Amino acid sequence: MQRAHELDAADPLAECRDLFVPARSGTDVVKAYLDGNSLGRPLKATRQRLIDLVDGAWGTRLIRSWDEQWMELPFALGDELARVCLGAAAGQTCFADSTTVLLYKLLRAAVDAAPWGRSRIVVDTQNFPTDRYVAEAVAAERGHELVWIEADPAGAATAEQVAEVVDERTSVVLLSHVAYKSAQIADLPRITEVVHAAGSVVLWDLCHSVGVVPIELDRNQVDLAVGCSYKYLNGGPGAPAFAYVAQRHQGRLRQPIQGWMGHARPFEMGPGFEASQGMRGFISGTPPVLAMVGIADTIELIDRFSLAEIRRKSVELTSFVVAATDSGLSGEGVRLVSPRDPGVRGGHVTLAHPRSRQVYTQLWAEGIIPDFREPDGIRLGLAPLSTSFVEVAYALSRIAELVDQH
Ligand SMILES: *Cc1c(COP(=O)(O)O)cnc(C)c1O
Repeated sequence: MQRAHELDAADPLAECRDLFVPARSGTDVVKAYLDGNSLGRPLKATRQRLIDLVDGAWGTRLIRSWDEQWMELPFALGDELARVCLGAAAGQTCFADSTTVLLYKLLRAAVDAAPWGRSRIVVDTQNFPTDRYVAEAVAAERGHELVWIEADPAGAATAEQVAEVVDERTSVVLLSHVAYKSAQIADLPRITEVVHAAGSVVLWDLCHSVGVVPIELDRNQVDLAVGCSYKYLNGGPGAPAFAYVAQRHQGRLRQPIQGWMGHARPFEMGPGFEASQGMRGFISGTPPVLAMVGIADTIELIDRFSLAEIRRKSVELTSFVVAATDSGLSGEGVRLVSPRDPGVRGGHVTLAHPRSRQVYTQLWAEGIIPDFREPDGIRLGLAPLSTSFVEVAYALSRIAELVDQH
């Protein structure tokens, strides 16, 4: 605990914690929030932004706001995210739909654009359920075959595994940048290269890396990516996802949900569909403005303190958990599932213990909020902007006590 206090005192991001809405109301006090990788905490600035939206752009400007700002919002915000978090130039990112729907749209677009004879979708067994389910659906719909990479539950698909399965029959490869269970960071540069060498394209799911692990989409010539905004980006429950489509693919790819907002001239309301150029062609219906505005606050905060600084603290936080687990401070018999090498470890740490479920239930009852992941994982999400070392140390000490009680 002493060490945790020292780390907090020396933390250049410590001041950020006061920018969040306090997680307490009356007797309901959250003592440690370790789920910022599932639902990020709201910033006070977002509360104010929502009030301003209701009173101003919505309440007063009313429908004029569509012309004044909202029509462009999915793309303006996308460009900001691209600049601050994705290592991507403007004009390749937009916010829309949920991750699931965007995965479907981009996967279908990639499958439909694949040359004749390429009819195999590659996906890994440790990918997030929605990614696997969407891949199954697209494969069934388009008569493609699924090729499964058996990834290590304590890791992720490797470049070697990808190299073994991609060939002239591959239509698209769908992988996660950071594994939602283990936190392993996939080797995005090498895997992207391997997929390109086989003449195929890769769709990266960035849900667990965006806002916490630096990403270089343009430099690595990534083809397609999606990610969500309610985890480390603190956009709020149901905040829309984002899609990245590399410039070189935009004219070539057609997404399947063609709606009026993706039309080249939506307000002509003409008889036939004509896809808009650029990222507008990847949206379908009216953008979810109310759910989108809050994302800007965290992007601004990340821009102010820099993603490199956030990553530095993230590594310190996860290393703190690893060190505590190694020295038995997280409890007898508690096992580290996440990678030991901080260079390939994302923003969360998964610990395993046979009694994880009971421990997790008791922690929630006490206002200590981690995640439980089947079969026996306690997942500690350590959002660097809102998490203190003392908070983490306290949670670990309670885990140790609860594990040792039985
Ligand atoms: C959280 C998460 C999703 C969520 O998809 P939604 O459509 O937003 O529910 C998808 N993929 C990964 C890897 C995730 O971590």
